[in-house]
Amino acid sequence: MSSKRILIVEDESAIADTLIYTLNNSGYVTEHVTLVQTALACLQTDSFALAILDIGLPDGSGFDLCRQLRRFSDIPVIFLTAHTDEIDRIVGLEMGADDYVTKPFSPREVAARVGVILRRLSPGANQTAESRSAKHFALDSLARRIRYGGVLLDLTRYEYLLLKLLIEHPERIFSREQLLERVWRDPGEVFDRTVDTHIKTLRAKLRAAKPEPDPIHTHRGLGYSLQSP
Ligand code: CA
Repeated sequence: MSSKRILIVEDESAIADTLIYTLNNSGYVTEHVTLVQTALACLQTDSFALAILDIGLPDGSGFDLCRQLRRFSDIPVIFLTAHTDEIDRIVGLEMGADDYVTKPFSPREVAARVGVILRRLSPGANQTAESRSAKHFALDSLARRIRYGGVLLDLTRYEYLLLKLLIEHPERIFSREQLLERVWRDPGEVFDRTVDTHIKTLRAKLRAAKPEPDPIHTHRGLGYSLQSP
């Protein structure tokens, strides 16, 4: 088990406590602070493998904290967010975050995401650098076309948007909720099963273009990611 240190910046003690408990059980060492200023002091003096930042903090926002952190460190950051408009800022402004989790969340999900990010960055993960750029896929955003294994895919609007998002973030796990937020911008008549249905048709089209292997990975209880062979 790794003894990597994780800084948790969260002012709600109930949330912090469940995170600390779960991360400690997963073999991480945690440090917990509640203020932007204390967090910055910690991050400047100690070394951490990753930081989990709440956005609404008593003396400022997690966004400001992240911005200041990025002046001296590039450690991975996961945001904890409660609002959709915050997600837009995280995603849209390229805040330098590696991932985000929407409240209420399961601590197990956060621990899994921490694990994925740290494995990706661990020594030896470099040989997967090529696979991270989504091997076999060619994305043409201007023409809104995607080729897979050299074959041009005939995709519906949402299949295209879904696959594009996955290609742009290889190996990152998206929950159904995150996919709905980022692909189906107009909520309308959209249900959780919408994502599964589109993943299913997408898989069939990918299989038709290139039978093996299935690049879309299902992570039970977590969501989907694009895996490279
Ligand atoms: Ca808060």
